[in-house]
Amino acid sequence: MPVYLDYNATAPMRPEIRDLVIKIMEGVGNGSSVHAYGRAARKYIETARSQVANLCAVEAEQVTFTSGATESINAVLSNYRDKAVLVSRIEHPAVLESAPHATLIPVTAQGVVDLTALETLLTDTKPALVCIMLVNSETGVIQPVSEAAKLVHDHGALLLVDGVQAAGRIDINMQKLGADYLALSAHKMAGPQGVGALITKSGLEAPRFMLGGGQEKNCRAGTHNTAGIAGMGLAAQIAKANIPHYESITKMRDEMETHIRGLTNNIRIYGDNAPRVGNTCNIGLNNVPAQTQLMALDLDGIAVSSGSACSSGSFKPSHVLSAMGANADEAKSALRISMGWNTTRSDIDAFVQSYAKIIKRTQE
Ligand code: PLP
Repeated sequence: MPVYLDYNATAPMRPEIRDLVIKIMEGVGNGSSVHAYGRAARKYIETARSQVANLCAVEAEQVTFTSGATESINAVLSNYRDKAVLVSRIEHPAVLESAPHATLIPVTAQGVVDLTALETLLTDTKPALVCIMLVNSETGVIQPVSEAAKLVHDHGALLLVDGVQAAGRIDINMQKLGADYLALSAHKMAGPQGVGALITKSGLEAPRFMLGGGQEKNCRAGTHNTAGIAGMGLAAQIAKANIPHYESITKMRDEMETHIRGLTNNIRIYGDNAPRVGNTCNIGLNNVPAQTQLMALDLDGIAVSSGSACSSGSFKPSHVLSAMGANADEAKSALRISMGWNTTRSDIDAFVQSYAKIIKRTQE
């Protein structure tokens, strides 16, 4: 059986979510139509809105459905093209590419946003918006978002938080975080691909990005992706209920890391001394390009990733690991192993066995 350990790229859909998506796709109905079919579609959409709102402890009216976190992030940043913006060096390309003019906030060697540097940059650049992710996709490191939010607000700026890799892994409370905007994606929490949400702080207007029909209170035009949205709602509900399962996933991840450390000293586990979500492990194996490691693992039927999925294939040094002080060779020699709801101990054993063969080859 192939072993899938790339949940941070995309998680396998849970069967109950897939069944709901298929059921809706087999039917018909535009959520904007007034007849019974339209009303049925609208009901799915509004149920999902409440489920997503519940995931991050907000009111349903704060949720705008989008085609994914990339769109949610672009929607916010499109209003800040001619304003000063700060973004952390470890953000996803969805942020970095849509704010090319932004000043970058450094991170520590453990991959945590440097709050002292943030405070200085806030004073020096007087930004209108700051963007910090809650959990890094490559290392799993949890960022000090609520502390950052206090600094950001004291300097009169707003805070956009990319919550994609946090959803369903740690508790998200938008108000406690101090986020003004929060971007989410369904497919990272076992829902369908191509659907996401932007949560806007109560009292703040959601950005108008997609223009056309009046869907989503005129903020996101386009016929609703009813099946996808319903799938996202159910995914959010299940993800929230299953956060305690991450305790056993963390145990598996930690045991795996201990095992691998016992095999060689030639590795670095990125962010190992920082708070991390329990499903992610990023290991650098000195002088062995990630491409070589990925191919060897693939031959054994094991799917992991190097860097973020969006940049894999290009094998550029990871910008996240570079920001943490890794040199170009080190930043090209790391693998990300990411687990989730369907990961078993035998998946981890298969990975360790295959990885041990790679290590052994380096010792010959
Ligand atoms: N932000 C982070 C941290 C991600 O990991 C990803 C997906 O790789 C995205 C944003 C983009 O999400 P989507 O695929 O929904 O556009």
